Order: sequence, then structure tokens, then C-alpha cells
Amino acid sequence: MKVSAFLIFGAPGSGKGTVGAKLSSAVGIKHLSTGDIFRGLSPASESGKLFSNYAGAGKLVPDEVTIQIFSRYVNGLIDTNKFDPEKSSFLLDGIPRTVAQAELIKSVVDVKHVFVLDIPDYSIIVERLLKRAKIEGRKDDADENVIRARLNEYETKTAAVLGAYDSSIITRINGAQDHDEVFLDTLSAYVKAKQNK
Ligand code: AMP
Repeated sequence: MKVSAFLIFGAPGSGKGTVGAKLSSAVGIKHLSTGDIFRGLSPASESGKLFSNYAGAGKLVPDEVTIQIFSRYVNGLIDTNKFDPEKSSFLLDGIPRTVAQAELIKSVVDVKHVFVLDIPDYSIIVERLLKRAKIEGRKDDADENVIRARLNEYETKTAAVLGAYDSSIITRINGAQDHDEVFLDTLSAYVKAKQNK
């Protein structure tokens, strides 16, 4: 059985996590961030070590491993009654991040709508991430070279993912606005997407 999902999409630092958490608690869909799943892996485990090597360099984790960890996590939620695919949807944050991932999840994830947080000015992103590093202590936010590598991965591998979806299910939102405005625009796009279903 396929799980239904909304995608929150955008460059690192575009606010996916913040708006994702707000939208999911407002409308009752399950926010799932692959970055959070990866950060929850034991640093001593093989996958934890792999993650730390890639993320530390600002690189994406290879597709096969990513899909394997993601699928295992989703199945775990379903098996332990934490997510009922017949009643609820996911708000996926950080996946798919390559065209190959979009292809690999197609058979199990039915994408209903994509909310894209646009921030064309990368200086805003760098500033935000450096600020977040001080609050959350994420190493990959603290080093400007790693941030640039992540933005490069986004441009060269992730941006093309949007081509995998019909433009009728994509809404672009100005991610440079104040957090509340970004949330309002995303909520409004979500309501419209549900109405057009
Ligand atoms: P994020 O919290 O979304 O910024 O992700 C942090 C890091 O986790 C990324 O820089 C990647 O190394 C890794 N990551 C998260 N999601 C994915 C994904 N879908 N594919 C590959 N790597 C990912």
C-alpha cells in the first residue's frame, strides 16, 4: 500500500523544518525529516558513521542507503501504530533530494503536493544557518565551507527533483519572508491543495 505525502522542499536553511513542524501540528499530518532521522542514528553504528562522514562534508548520503534507512523508519512507524497510512499523510522534509530518490520512492509514496520555499539570495541562507549553529549546535551549520557545499549539492542534485512532479501540484512560497508569513502561505497552499484533490 502507498503512503500519501506532501513535500516541503527548498535549499538548506530555507525554513523547511520550522514551517514543517508548524504545518504538521496545525493540520495533523506527520512531519518526517530525513535529516532528523539521520541525526537520530547512533554515532557508533555503521549508518551513523556513514552519515557523519557525508553530512560533515556537506554532501548527500548515497541514494541506496538513504532510501533503505527512510523505508525502515516509515515501516517502523506503521508497524508500531504510530502512523496509519489509511488515515493520515506524511509531510516529508528533506526527501527526495535527488531525481533517483524521487524515482525510488515512487512505488511507495504518493506525492499529493509540493511546497517549495524559495530563497534566491544565498547570503540570507548563510546568515540563517550560522545563527542556527549557535542555537542548535549543528556542526554542518557552523562552517561556511560546509554550508557552500550543501548549497552546491542542492543546486546540482536536488533542484532538478521538481521536474519529477507536475507543475499543477507545485506551489512556490517566498521563504525569505517572516516565519509567520511563510507558515500562512504554506497553510493556504495546503488548504487549496486539499480542495483540488
Ligand atoms: P538536513 O537536516 O535536511 O539539512 O540534512 C542534513 C544532512 O543529512 C544532509 O546534508 C545530508 O548529508 C543528509 N540527508 C538528509 N536527507 C537526505 C536525503 N534525502 N538524501 C541524502 N542525504 C540526506
